[in-house]
Amino acid sequence: MGDIVFQNTLGGKNQVFVPLHPGQARMYTCGPTVYDFAHIGNFRTFVFQDVLRRFLRSRGFEVIQVTNFTDVDDRIIAKAAEAKLDIREYTDKYIDAFLADQRVLGIRKPEYTVRATDHIEDMVQLIERLTAKGFTYVSDGSIYFRISQFPDYGKLTHVDTAGIKAGARVDVDRYDKADARDFALWKAPKPGEFFWKTRIGPGRPGWHIECSAMAMKYLGETIDIHSGGVDLAFPHHENEIAQSEAATGKPFVRYWLHAEHLLVDSQKMSKSLGNFYTLRDLLEKGNKPSTIRFLLASVPYRRQLNFTQEGLQQAASSVERLRNFTIRLNTSKFPEGTSTVSESAERASKDFERALEDDLNTAQALAAVFDLIREVNVAVDHGEFQQGDVAPVRKTLESFDAIFAVLQDDDDEKLRSIGMEAGAKAPSNEQIEELVTARQVARKTRDFAKADRIRQDLANQGIILEDSKDGIVRWKRK
Ligand SMILES: [Zn+2]
Repeated sequence: MGDIVFQNTLGGKNQVFVPLHPGQARMYTCGPTVYDFAHIGNFRTFVFQDVLRRFLRSRGFEVIQVTNFTDVDDRIIAKAAEAKLDIREYTDKYIDAFLADQRVLGIRKPEYTVRATDHIEDMVQLIERLTAKGFTYVSDGSIYFRISQFPDYGKLTHVDTAGIKAGARVDVDRYDKADARDFALWKAPKPGEFFWKTRIGPGRPGWHIECSAMAMKYLGETIDIHSGGVDLAFPHHENEIAQSEAATGKPFVRYWLHAEHLLVDSQKMSKSLGNFYTLRDLLEKGNKPSTIRFLLASVPYRRQLNFTQEGLQQAASSVERLRNFTIRLNTSKFPEGTSTVSESAERASKDFERALEDDLNTAQALAAVFDLIREVNVAVDHGEFQQGDVAPVRKTLESFDAIFAVLQDDDDEKLRSIGMEAGAKAPSNEQIEELVTARQVARKTRDFAKADRIRQDLANQGIILEDSKDGIVRWKRK
């Protein structure tokens, strides 16, 4: 196996991944701001991060991943007040929904999933450290970070700070590059607004300080990988670097990985355009969890992903092909021996790994797997595929599924887990196997009417049977 190379946003170069602590990958991923259901653009990033952690795991790294819930910010405070709930109550609902959505998409749970509001003391301590080093000032009860004090400010996103007047401030959590100014670490409460009483005064943390405090608490002052959507690079990640490095004097993050935007029908997703989808919107339209995961994972994270109906259909048929292929491999009998397909399988495994080593080029990794499937299908059709070829082909499929996680036919189960009935009528694999066996028995006892009835029943439920010459019955979902 070769080196793993990542394109580092910091510096813009491809770099071999060498973790700070041998054998261990410590990574921080910015989680959702929980004021609403997460949308499909958010999940593009979270699926990429899952592919990243699965790949590192498959390479034997111990992954220590921290992800946060931003459960206090400008929007949450406004929305919770509107709903007449305290922010904890307001955000609980969206945290639960997010965790359920993650499971539906096969996203593994990080080692630490933490809430910002449980770490106020850590943030206060970090602000105190910055104050002791002269990086902060107070204005109207809020505490600001003085970016002119930190010469490296802008090194991640190359924002130009030359023309900024000393003391020019920005109070909102999210702003543009044109607004690169001193940002709030701690915000004084507006009248009637919720606040914490702390040593640094009443108020609440700014968004950026949350991630620095939580990342360093669980992962140390220098972490290996920090990832997020490209829209977080400025100001959020730029500010995270400034706060963390000003406080510790050490590099904060060694590899910055940013996932590109997701477009819907070539346009930026927005509620006003009517092309804004949460995961549940897509499931309600009848898309399977595996289809959505496959589509999101199939485009390399540094490339824009154009999300279309056509793309969903293609993803659905790709997953179906993969599953049918696995069934064919597992249920057929092949002549003893080994053919050249074994070598092809080994080559496919290598190509698959090599593609992922190359900054997680998932598209190329998939191409290696589908090329192999094509070759195996042709070999089987021509009677050239042999029993000895099964193991190497299966190994390629296992490597594939350790990362992509779509082979298991558990979509209906996942839908049911979030109370959706869409696929609930579809029979389980066990039920299908039982009916297939019952039909075999009926045929053996020459009860053809019954055999036909079972075949028809299954067809009505979208299950297609194929009788092969060797007497083995294969089935697939339509
Ligand atoms: Zn963050």
